[in-house]
Amino acid sequence: MRVTGGQVFDLEKGFIERDVCTDGPLLASVSSDGRMLDASGCYVIPGLVDVHFHGCVGEDFSDASPEGLQRMADFELSQGVTYICPAGMTLPEDQLTAICRNAAAHRAKNAGGAQLVGLHLEGPFLSTAKKGAQNGDFLHDPDSAMLRRLQKAAEGCVKLVTVAPEQPGAMDFIRAAVADGIAVSVGHTTADYDTAAAAFAAGADHATHLYNGMPPLHHRSPGVIGAAFDDPKVQVELICDGIHIHSSVVRATFRLFGAERVILISDSLRATGMPDGQYPFGGQEIEVHGNRATILGHPETLAGSVTSLMGCLRQAVAFGVPLADAVRAASYNPARSIGIDRQAGSLDTGKEASLILLDREDLSIRAIVFQGELLEQ
Ligand SMILES: [Zn+2]
Repeated sequence: MRVTGGQVFDLEKGFIERDVCTDGPLLASVSSDGRMLDASGCYVIPGLVDVHFHGCVGEDFSDASPEGLQRMADFELSQGVTYICPAGMTLPEDQLTAICRNAAAHRAKNAGGAQLVGLHLEGPFLSTAKKGAQNGDFLHDPDSAMLRRLQKAAEGCVKLVTVAPEQPGAMDFIRAAVADGIAVSVGHTTADYDTAAAAFAAGADHATHLYNGMPPLHHRSPGVIGAAFDDPKVQVELICDGIHIHSSVVRATFRLFGAERVILISDSLRATGMPDGQYPFGGQEIEVHGNRATILGHPETLAGSVTSLMGCLRQAVAFGVPLADAVRAASYNPARSIGIDRQAGSLDTGKEASLILLDREDLSIRAIVFQGELLEQ
């Protein structure tokens, strides 16, 4: 297929006018068949990569339901999110094991929808004081043996684990996880600057939803945010649904960290793509009004978002983030953070031919090409 006439995302140059060619499921320098796709009036961007979302269309990854995970994958693909690394909640080990097994079985089945490229264990190795919407009953001290058991159940699917580095044994846990090829993210934490810096020195290279679930950046106590800034290898997740982070802070974060180090995430809940109402969430109940999802009875505790990653990308642009920076933060950066940037994250020859045509007027989806095939809209 030859995609012509579009403004094409380029990691170095922003957007350039060029054709994009596919050969089978991969991007190529020339097209092997006669198929053409007119992208005039469109931006052509890589399929998005969400490394932190819990659910959508009434389903939650933590339910460990094969049908539910398939519905999630189908919905995410329809939103232009072609790669998913869903996140589990803080739950007992047997439930986490079921979640891991379900992810491995889903990946093996390969029955369509967004491609499952990993899973993110957001819990249970978190701080009670910053558990946010996580269920405190099931928090657990960092435990490398448990992580290995879960990774075994997941058949290697675990790509990311969040940990509060002030918890007992956290530094050894970080070193062991990194040695096993699992990226470690600092989050849901009360860590001060020194503790967070030690976690990053031990190999953590990611911060979970920066600002949310951690102490703020105080001028004498800069905490995780300051420590993340000071270590150039660290990438930071940002929930850009228009609710979790003020627009000024979104702009400031892109300026402070640079577009190379920001990862847009949706942190989306099962209510995403659903009407307002009450929904179960990790053994608790949440209440959804419009764009806002909170723990039932605790209207000040945000439970996550109800916006897909594509919606977050549009929101970042509406907040003043340059489009090329927002696209990079929702594709290449998350792909790199979980080690799949050889296959995903940009439109370079040899990578998978999963790309999205966005209307240049309103960034709505005009076409989705997934693994070289144009999807029916
Ligand atoms: Zn969280």
